[in-house]
Amino acid sequence: ESKLQLVHRHVRAFPDFPKKGILFRDICPILKDPAALTAVTDLFEEHVRKNHPQVDLIVGLDARGFLFGPLLAQRLGVGFVLVRKMGKLPGSTVSVAYDLEYGKAEVEVQEDGVAPGQKVLLIDDLLATGGTLYAACELMKKQQADILGCMVVIELKELNGIDKLKPHQVFSLLQY
Ligand code: 5GP
Repeated sequence: ESKLQLVHRHVRAFPDFPKKGILFRDICPILKDPAALTAVTDLFEEHVRKNHPQVDLIVGLDARGFLFGPLLAQRLGVGFVLVRKMGKLPGSTVSVAYDLEYGKAEVEVQEDGVAPGQKVLLIDDLLATGGTLYAACELMKKQQADILGCMVVIELKELNGIDKLKPHQVFSLLQY
């Protein structure tokens, strides 16, 4: 079995969660299996070492980006920075508002989290419409970071999140 097959086997689908008509991809079984979690980290690490060896920081998205990001950052010997939902970070922060299906949300980062010119890779568990990663990229631009790309475990292809994130590249392990 390949690493990718191992990861694939640990993603479950739940119909009608969190609301009717949504097929939710659940990554919890990956976390529960050390071999699967190691495989995810291995695959991300291989991608970064090959394509972005100059990376300075891994930037993880609230909340499931926090599960994979620090493991990868440790492997690479670089730091990890949190992009959080509004109101969770102490000290001076920078924020970006974005539209949800209903209403608005805001993400923020600590002002000293990323320095101008630092090369960052963003990470989350899943790309759907791309709204969340797009807002995080806007945040990184505000901080004058150099965005090398985005990484997710799962890409939901039919929602075209990839287009929304252009010109930034998105690397995904699994596509549905
Ligand atoms: P987007 O902003 O791309 O529309 O949605 C992506 C965000 O919503 C990610 O932070 C992701 O964690 C969450 N998300 C949306 N749909 C799913 C899903 O089916 N499974 C998981 N695990 N997360 C989802």
